Amino acid sequence: MIPFFRNLDDFLAFVELDIKVLSLNLSPNFPVKIPKAFAERIQKGHPKDPLLLQVLPRIQETRIAENFKIDPVGDLKKSPIQGLLHKYQSRALVVTTGHCDIHCRYCFRQHFPYAEESPNSQRIAYIKGYFEKHPEINELILSGGDPLSLSVKALKNWFDLAESMPSIHRIRIHTRSAITTPERISDELINVLKTSPLKHIWVVHINHTQEIDDSVQMALDRLKQAGVTLLNQSVLLKDINDDAHTLAQLSERLFDVGVMPYYLHQLDRVQGAQHFEVDENRAAEIYTELQTILPGYLVPKWVREIAGEPNKTLMSGGFS
Ligand code: SF4
Repeated sequence: MIPFFRNLDDFLAFVELDIKVLSLNLSPNFPVKIPKAFAERIQKGHPKDPLLLQVLPRIQETRIAENFKIDPVGDLKKSPIQGLLHKYQSRALVVTTGHCDIHCRYCFRQHFPYAEESPNSQRIAYIKGYFEKHPEINELILSGGDPLSLSVKALKNWFDLAESMPSIHRIRIHTRSAITTPERISDELINVLKTSPLKHIWVVHINHTQEIDDSVQMALDRLKQAGVTLLNQSVLLKDINDDAHTLAQLSERLFDVGVMPYYLHQLDRVQGAQHFEVDENRAAEIYTELQTILPGYLVPKWVREIAGEPNKTLMSGGFS
């Protein structure tokens, strides 16, 4: 059993913080969920710890901000079948589950109607039919929630489905669990990956160097040895990673553990997360400085997802 904190009092006692010194949202709609393995990387007694701020439900969540929406990236308009999102020409994304091991307070899918969109056996048959009618799709993206919260057997069923379709060449997994709960990278999962004939790309989600401890490094090593290509996406988050040196350290550390920096996302404007947003002008300054610090291959692409666009939008100051 993976241990989680779901109760704020227990979590604050663990990180040695007094509830009275924090301005918290004590009845959040998006419940608190923090894996113990992640909580152990938080500095005790430090109210501004960059990992703590990602999981702490603060009072600012309750403010309604203009231009912050329930579905900021237009997922639901691009869902031809419940559980399937087809936004970009050659790849399609399956919402495999509504569960995550961690609840990131800035999550762009925190209001997503998972109960309506998570696949059941009938939807999976429709999804297969959709892929057969769309041979231009050559990459299946497993997302969620977090696909690693599925059992290995359920995950393998998705791999088998992809392998049964000649047009699919790659499986991509979007996961934060590989980082927050590295115990998910089990022997059973590694064996399944090693025997899969398809190419596997995992896009992990790390925002700060402090998230990478020995257990994470070991899990990433095992994935690499199983033939998985590892990329990272981060979100630019106020007071967490919004300076060039913090981001440069992250890229260096990612490279050391065999992960290539891929995307730096401008925050998706989801309701309840406005306090995480870094103003675009400030973000451009940070990104410009980042490019002077790092070699080009370690600079992630700075992007924003705009609802209805046929690809992610490179921000100015980014590579074109
Ligand atoms: S792990 Fe990903 S999908 Fe889950 S809450 Fe965090 S950002 Fe959202």
